[in-house]
Amino acid sequence: MADAKTWARVKSPWVLHFNSGACNGCDIEIVALLTPKYDVERFGIKLEPSPRHADILLVTGAVTNQCAERLKRVYDQMPQPKFVVAIGACACSGGVFAGTYNTLGGVDKVIPVSAYIPGCPPRPEAIIDGCVKLLNAINPPKKKKRKQVNGIKEATKSEVVPVVMEVKQDGKQ
Ligand code: SF4
Repeated sequence: MADAKTWARVKSPWVLHFNSGACNGCDIEIVALLTPKYDVERFGIKLEPSPRHADILLVTGAVTNQCAERLKRVYDQMPQPKFVVAIGACACSGGVFAGTYNTLGGVDKVIPVSAYIPGCPPRPEAIIDGCVKLLNAINPPKKKKRKQVNGIKEATKSEVVPVVMEVKQDGKQ
């Protein structure tokens, strides 16, 4: 049963987006993910407005003093197991806002973070890559069994050595 739940969660993670103080650059990249050009729904990733139904929290921006408590409350409202992805340099470490009087720094100053995606802003491809790596970490893909023909195991890609055959001018080998 636990395997079925993990399988369902990985095949259809619902994400919640929270801006804890971003300049909107990272948020625009997240919006791009959800539009048909990048279309993250092909991985089953769906935007969910309620924290109570979300599996993954996507956070952008350095955490401002004003947002810290709200971010913690949203995180607490999410059901277990839950994952947090810090998107952009600001969410990872405070970025250009690090050390300012009105921010606490990166997201991990307030809640635990499962994955960091650096960049200012990170490209949509990088965000997709980070999300897919997180999903693979939750449920690692099983290694395919190598086929056996007459007791001999099929070679993996790295074991295949290109063979160059000498061809004579008349076309015979
Ligand atoms: S990482 Fe860059 S684009 Fe993203 S919130 Fe910070 S300054 Fe803006």
